[in-house]
Amino acid sequence: MNFWLSALIHKRAVAHGPLVLVYHSVTSGARRPAWPWSISARDFAHHLDFIADRGYTTCAVRDLLSTTENLAATPRVVITFDDGYRDNLEAAEALSLRGMTASWFVLSGNLGQTPRWKDHEGPQDPLLDIAELRALEASGFEIGSHGVDHLRMTALNDAALDYQMNTSRQSLEQALGNPVRSFAYPFGAWDARVRDAADAAGYGHACTTVSGWALRDGDPLRIRRLTIKNTDSAAVLARKLAWAQNEVSWPHVAGSLARRLGGGLVRRLPMRS
Ligand SMILES: [Zn+2]
Repeated sequence: MNFWLSALIHKRAVAHGPLVLVYHSVTSGARRPAWPWSISARDFAHHLDFIADRGYTTCAVRDLLSTTENLAATPRVVITFDDGYRDNLEAAEALSLRGMTASWFVLSGNLGQTPRWKDHEGPQDPLLDIAELRALEASGFEIGSHGVDHLRMTALNDAALDYQMNTSRQSLEQALGNPVRSFAYPFGAWDARVRDAADAAGYGHACTTVSGWALRDGDPLRIRRLTIKNTDSAAVLARKLAWAQNEVSWPHVAGSLARRLGGGLVRRLPMRS
């Protein structure tokens, strides 16, 4: 049932373009982590295998718009990691093993230190440091900015917003020796002013946590992403990719499917987000 439905919709889904996934912590082993925004390395590997088996290719956020591949022929998934947890190094190995790429969004003011932003509930280990980020970049992964301090950008005045956007990009570029072109809004908090500040700071791409097809809004500074949680098996991922939405529990999906099929418009299925 699960895979039959996914297969039905994947065909239509491809026409809507790429999907972007957002991961946070990836904990070693098979045990389900307690933090909702974490996932076990085993489930992560299952995700990657599903993505490969379904014929998706991966690309970095910076390459979302530059690819010349035929979208209809090559469905794409973009894998992103927010915050830069050190346990992501194991995830990077799993990606490299499969020839896949990804983008990391890190905090220029918190590299190599324990997370110190307000209300942080994730792993307390030190975040990735600059040497580890350089190694990731050397392996072909993209390093983007998540700001200096993981602040809610919509709550900042213009000067503070400008500082978070510009200083994080400049200091990451200095440390890495390469351009930083992508940004992810901390807490997914953005509005028109924040979006314009990302543009003014020189970012070519910025990611929200609004669910849906990545480029549905036609704006590279409002890239939509699907959020991965600790209960997301490969089957849940299949439904997230098929429906391009975060809420894919069976009762929800069945209800939404029934309504749409009731309308006799199977072609509208993938538009939900
Ligand atoms: Zn974050």
